[in-house]
Amino acid sequence: MHHFEYRDGQLFAEDVPVARLAEEFGTPLYVYSAATFSRHFEIFDAAFNELPHLTCYSVKANSNLSVLNLLAKKGAGMDIVSGGELYRALAAGVPADKIVYSGVGKRPEEIKEALEAGILMFNVESQAELVRINEIAQAMGTRARISLRINPDVDPQTHPYISTGMKKNKFGLDMETSMQAYALAKSLPALDPVGLDCHIGSQLTSIEPFKEAMDKLMAFHDRLTGELGLDIKYLDLGGGLGIQYNEEDPPHPEVFAQALIPVLKERPLTVILEPGRVIAGNSGLLITKVVYTKDTPSKHFVIVDAAMNDLTRPALYGSYHRIAEVEPRHRTASIVDVVGPICESSDFLARERTMSAVQSGELLAVFSAGAYGFSMSSQYNSRCRAAEVLVDGATVTLARARETYEDLVALERGGLK
Ligand SMILES: *Cc1c(COP(=O)(O)O)cnc(C)c1O
Repeated sequence: MHHFEYRDGQLFAEDVPVARLAEEFGTPLYVYSAATFSRHFEIFDAAFNELPHLTCYSVKANSNLSVLNLLAKKGAGMDIVSGGELYRALAAGVPADKIVYSGVGKRPEEIKEALEAGILMFNVESQAELVRINEIAQAMGTRARISLRINPDVDPQTHPYISTGMKKNKFGLDMETSMQAYALAKSLPALDPVGLDCHIGSQLTSIEPFKEAMDKLMAFHDRLTGELGLDIKYLDLGGGLGIQYNEEDPPHPEVFAQALIPVLKERPLTVILEPGRVIAGNSGLLITKVVYTKDTPSKHFVIVDAAMNDLTRPALYGSYHRIAEVEPRHRTASIVDVVGPICESSDFLARERTMSAVQSGELLAVFSAGAYGFSMSSQYNSRCRAAEVLVDGATVTLARARETYEDLVALERGGLK
């Protein structure tokens, strides 16, 4: 069941023609399918039904309030990495006791806000952070549930910028340091070490690294129980399951779950999962309009109104996104670079792509743009950030209005002389 498909020669988002959305809301425009978000969440969550578990959607993948609200209504918890994401999750109606907080640089104010809200657990990434959380909790007369993020030193075989569980990465603590950190956590008066956490990277297309990490975590769990007498209740396996952008063949969530469940079943643990991309990635499109085409002796350029500030992944990781016409006209194909208006040569959405000879004014759909799309966008070149719409059947909700020029400068007016 696909919720972005062609009917009578034009692309639909559920029951709404994408061209109509572009007409009404302008371009560049992010278009999300509510049914796809729901289905992805349900499939992933149900895959772990054999175990006590909590699926904490990773807010940073797509943090639009409407998206968070939709997932919260399905029972999702959330994995956050900042005070801003805590604010969003709470605003979207996520119960605080379904929120886990990850990240290497949590600031004191952010820790305080999370304790005040009463989140489920902090995923702690250093001894200094443990000490900091203890101090703050103690001063507030409360206690903090924590897990330590273990860096299991496995190679997730993904892009180096989104590998997080290798020895050289800034994330988590190696096993030996972690043992000391758990002993420290046990001795600190305001901490309850209740969990064990890891997140080894993003866009993983094979199960092996997950299994390798889990085996190391299981051995480590035994040591925590045996050597420190800790009662670990939560095992957080992070996120990272990949999606199909082009020709990748990532494991289905069901296959992923079945590979892990037999081992996990033997232990009295609640499993926490933090999927982001696998829920959001293929639930969204970025719609853009061709502004000009330009032929030079070496290249054909298709210049569109979406740029690296709207969708950074191609510039940042060299990522592939499928791009197709919203209303295909079956013309001769040529090899083109699809580029945006920004003054950087890294501003491209596709390079050396075989595409029908599109003309100025036509609409293109950039697929798999639901994760790390809008959430990584910026105003670079003083471009107003795109609007976001959520389509549910025939119902369209403006999930975020397009920014205006006044939005660009509003917070700077105080500096005018
Ligand atoms: C980014 C992140 C995730 C989500 O990763 P995906 O690849 O989008 O599933 C989960 N947990 C942590 C700690 C993260 O930083």
